[in-house]
Amino acid sequence: KAKDLSGNQYQLFSPEIESRTFEQIQLENDLFKALQKNDEFELYYQPKFDVRTEKLIGMESLIRWNHPQLGTLPPGHFIPLAEETGLITNLGEWVIREACQQMKTWVSSGYTELIVSANLSPQQFNQQNLVLTVANILEETGLPAKHLELELTENLIIHNTEHTLRTIGQLKELGVQISIDDFGTGYSSLGYLKDFPVDTLKIDKSFINDVTTNRNNAAITKTIITLADSLQLNVIAEGVEKADQAAFLAEHGCHWIQGFYYSHPLQVETFEDHFLKSFIKRG
Ligand code: C2E
Ligand code: MG
Ligand code: MG
Ligand code: MG
Repeated sequence: KAKDLSGNQYQLFSPEIESRTFEQIQLENDLFKALQKNDEFELYYQPKFDVRTEKLIGMESLIRWNHPQLGTLPPGHFIPLAEETGLITNLGEWVIREACQQMKTWVSSGYTELIVSANLSPQQFNQQNLVLTVANILEETGLPAKHLELELTENLIIHNTEHTLRTIGQLKELGVQISIDDFGTGYSSLGYLKDFPVDTLKIDKSFINDVTTNRNNAAITKTIITLADSLQLNVIAEGVEKADQAAFLAEHGCHWIQGFYYSHPLQVETFEDHFLKSFIKRG
């Protein structure tokens, strides 16, 4: 039956697409439509703190999709789809622009010490014009580059070395901060750390989860902190949910900290109410 169709439609029967469920195809359609207007996506913000001073140092932006029928969808429900379909390029650009616009507002309100981070997916990182896109967004929004951090994952860093090295170098030249998200979970050798000018290691939450009860994960966590110190990098722990985890991290000299123990990711207004109390003016 497929043979009767035109070349274009024949594509519908390629094994990859065939294996998609009706729900997935519908969600893909919805995603495509949502990207025309961009009014269904929202960035939530989760605060990051300095362990020693307990001061707010910045926040990670985490995307949510307010789907008209399905409700609020977490990134795990649609980022993989966006990657598969190439829609991640547009979505990722929206994320960076939105985070920069928001941060610009906060900087203008006097929060001049904070850094906002945005997550980059591998596909987005590997697109040819990423650096130009970021540069344009910074210029458009008027946000000084030092207020933006991009979170990359380890697996992205080991592949495609030439492009990776050049891209990270150029982003650093712009003045953007670079962190390695989910650090310790990838397949990489540590060798890349001496070649790539990254700023921050982000210890994966799978280690932090049982850091006080699992000796191996405690050892890994301590080793990452020592490694960061030796290489003069910053180190942050994510997924901190309990007081004893926070205490462990403080005791072992982790610089920064993030997790449900302090706050879930929050909508802008709630984030401002809880963490930026004073003189925010909204326009
Ligand atoms: P990630 O960048 O490693 O983000 C951390 C995830 O852990 C977030 O889930 C966050 O809500 C969650 N989390 C924070 N504190 C805790 C905690 O104490 N305990 C536990 N169990 N979880 C905690 P979320 O928001 O569902 O995001 C999941 C992943 O989706 C992110 O992992 C990131 O890889 C991806 N993602 C999120 N936003 C974006 C985006 O704008 N663009 C891209 N490309 N990926 C994104
Ligand atoms: Mg992240
Ligand atoms: Mg992470
Ligand atoms: Mg992750």
